[in-house]
Amino acid sequence: MPQFTFDAVVVGAGIVGLAVARELKLRAPSTHIAVLDKEDVVGAHASGRNSGVLHCGIYYGSDTLKARVCAQGAARMIEFAHEHGIPCLKSGKVILATSEQQYPIVDRLMRNAQESGINARRINEQELRELEPAAAMSPAAIYCPDTAVIDSGAVLKQLRLSLEQQGITFLFGWQAKKLRAANVLQTSRGNISFGFLFNCAGAYADVLARRFGVAQNYALIPFKGIYWKLSHSANRLVRANIYPVPDVSLPFLGVHLTRVISGDVYVGPTAIPALGRENYGMVKGAGVGEALRIGKQLISMYLSNQNNFRRLTHTEIAKYSKRRFLAAARGLVPALQDIDMVPTSKAGIRPQLVNLKTKKLEMDYIIERIDNSIHVLNAISPAFTSAFAFAETIVKQSGTV
Ligand SMILES: Cc1cc2nc3c(=O)[nH]c(=O)nc-3n(C[C@H](O)[C@H](O)[C@H](O)COP(=O)(O)OP(=O)(O)OC[C@H]3O[C@@H](n4cnc5c(N)ncnc54)[C@H](O)[C@@H]3O)c2cc1C
Repeated sequence: MPQFTFDAVVVGAGIVGLAVARELKLRAPSTHIAVLDKEDVVGAHASGRNSGVLHCGIYYGSDTLKARVCAQGAARMIEFAHEHGIPCLKSGKVILATSEQQYPIVDRLMRNAQESGINARRINEQELRELEPAAAMSPAAIYCPDTAVIDSGAVLKQLRLSLEQQGITFLFGWQAKKLRAANVLQTSRGNISFGFLFNCAGAYADVLARRFGVAQNYALIPFKGIYWKLSHSANRLVRANIYPVPDVSLPFLGVHLTRVISGDVYVGPTAIPALGRENYGMVKGAGVGEALRIGKQLISMYLSNQNNFRRLTHTEIAKYSKRRFLAAARGLVPALQDIDMVPTSKAGIRPQLVNLKTKKLEMDYIIERIDNSIHVLNAISPAFTSAFAFAETIVKQSGTV
């Protein structure tokens, strides 16, 4: 017999799960909702370990779900921050082309901006100097004034508080295991009966989804994002956010410099293939079975070389070396020296899905529905930015309210 019964069960108390619970309550206040998480706090994984940037959406083609929810999500999160006194600053960002080969990508980003109504403009070297005096000279730079930084931890805490005040039950330390029977979820602490289930389990969403009979076409590769921080004396070299022109065949943005809301400047993150879904250290968090599965997947990706996977692997693994990491950062801020970069324990994992048929990295968010459950897959960057608008899409697609 199930211990508990809820109209809606949300698995995962990361930003996506919390935003889904919020959206459900907004649409149907009387819904009896539980949010469960295997950890003891909200945002223990990707949501509490990111760069804290609210992206403007310039990277995504207008036909993608990311483009549809990114800018809207950012606007709603900024509103939420203002409402609750959460630190948030529209500090803007520059994107720098460093070679002529990148010019077509600059054009493509500007086209994305135009098609999606994003505030972005090409800037000349003088304007760049005024915005970011220490940035590398770039003959093709873009300025995005609406990019913001936010205290992600404060957003997560406030969401939990608001949801608890609205009567939502949080079950921490409860791990969702599988579908026990129709509408009954088996967890590490007993069974829960649900009217509808939202799987927002981040790095484990694919595992849970498969136990419900969906997501069979995907495998997950975790990519580790590690950071360095600028020393106190080098901090002044970056005013806001300096990004490279990305490789648009990849879902990663490249090492960048971000002045976060505390005023510290972080350099990173990398996208190094990791050996476990929670492999934040060198080997910690890498189980043998999972590491073997991921290793096999990596070899297959390496051989097929879709998304320029070989080049990605080589350049990213090299960034375990401070020298190579510094070289990437100096492409954006040439004055940086070795002593300017100090180590930090900040690290996150991007749970990236691979399509098993095409052997390509999935670039967009994926939502799969089966019976009374919906599964949020590939909630990679910018899912923090997008969360409030993304949650609206998820809830609408569930057809529950
Ligand atoms: C290094 C890095 C930098 C990033 N920078 C940015 C950025 O600047 N801006 C931006 O918009 N995005 C950024 N992102 C992406 C963003 O952080 C994520 O897309 C977003 O946080 C995903 O949220 P989520 O709720 O899906 O996942 P998570 O935050 O990982 O939450 C999933 C939750 O599910 C729980 N869970 C898992 N399995 C189970 C289970 N079986 N039972 C119960 N609970 C379970 C986990 O404990 C976890 O709390 C970054 C990501 C990384 C890794």
